[in-house]
Amino acid sequence: MATVITNIGSLLTNDPSLGTVEDAAVVIEGEHIAWVGPADRAPAADVRHDARGRAALPGFVDSHSHLVFAGDRTAEFNARMSGRPYSAGGIRTTVAATRAATDAELDANVARYIAEALRQGTTTVETKSGYGLTVEDESRALRIAAAHTDEVTYLGAHIVAPEYADDPAAYVDLVTGPMLDACAPHARWVDVFCEQGAFDGDQARAILTAGAKRGLVPRVHANQLHHGPGVRLAVELGAASADHCTHLTDADVDALAQGTTVATLLPGAEFSTRAAYPDARRLLDAGATVALSTDCNPGSSFTSSMPFCIAVAVREMGMTPDEAVVAATLGGAKALRRDDVGRIAPGARADVTLLDTPSHVHLAYRPGVPLVSAVWQRGVPV
Ligand SMILES: [Zn+2]
Repeated sequence: MATVITNIGSLLTNDPSLGTVEDAAVVIEGEHIAWVGPADRAPAADVRHDARGRAALPGFVDSHSHLVFAGDRTAEFNARMSGRPYSAGGIRTTVAATRAATDAELDANVARYIAEALRQGTTTVETKSGYGLTVEDESRALRIAAAHTDEVTYLGAHIVAPEYADDPAAYVDLVTGPMLDACAPHARWVDVFCEQGAFDGDQARAILTAGAKRGLVPRVHANQLHHGPGVRLAVELGAASADHCTHLTDADVDALAQGTTVATLLPGAEFSTRAAYPDARRLLDAGATVALSTDCNPGSSFTSSMPFCIAVAVREMGMTPDEAVVAATLGGAKALRRDDVGRIAPGARADVTLLDTPSHVHLAYRPGVPLVSAVWQRGVPV
């Protein structure tokens, strides 16, 4: 069965040979795009959807989230935004709640936030473990994540587990040994939080290298809170993505510009912690590939909204509206090394987001407004 979405006022394809097509149509057959072009030349289809002149774009690709968690950190956020000291345990609070949760509770949470993202136009979501920090709890998190997405990341190295606070080297041995054995079958990626107070460059290298030996492709939480070795390590190891990239030296920017590692920027984290934003303009001008993502997690960025990230990136990070929308679609696909999503072209997966506006620029122009009017995921209207 074929579906034609026709009368699209402005279609952003992210395909170099198609560009942005005015008065466009898209034909979907099964899970894939079969045809893209001017509406008046579209082939016949079984089902016709009239876009009534509105804008369409590829479904958003959110390449960085932490959705397998339980518990609530409202009080921590409230204290931070109220200028009050707050001594509870940050990530450790979520670790304790996640360990105590049932499989069904964690599964329901993942389903809820993926559905929430889908309503906002996100059709591909990566998500991570990292709130279990035991062999059992990390592998459980990955099994639960894998029931909802193919893009699953082993982040046993989120922080040193509380039980190993006095012996971080032993925790690295666990993460690169028995925990990796239990987790590798359920994951595509391996990640590490390379940061002061989490894992240093040598530890991060050991963890990423061990994961790579088990067939997991590295991605790195890098240079979020301070300058450090994360970005250059990511590029050196051929990581798919260096995520955050908030504190960069010229050497870091050069490495990203010359390597194949995508710079994934997560403005929800800076927004939610009142921190300085990463400089997307500097990265783009240097020639780096930039992705935008939510970092959706209960502590530092509790948003599943890619439109929100686009608006902040344009307002605060020097991106043009076009650059931000491309980073949230094609950029995310590159950060996940996918060429079947993030673009609308024959053969691509039929993930299409229709806006209730004449242009995708409205995603930045009308911040906070629910502009997504329809979404097709794998060819199915949702
Ligand atoms: Zn993260």
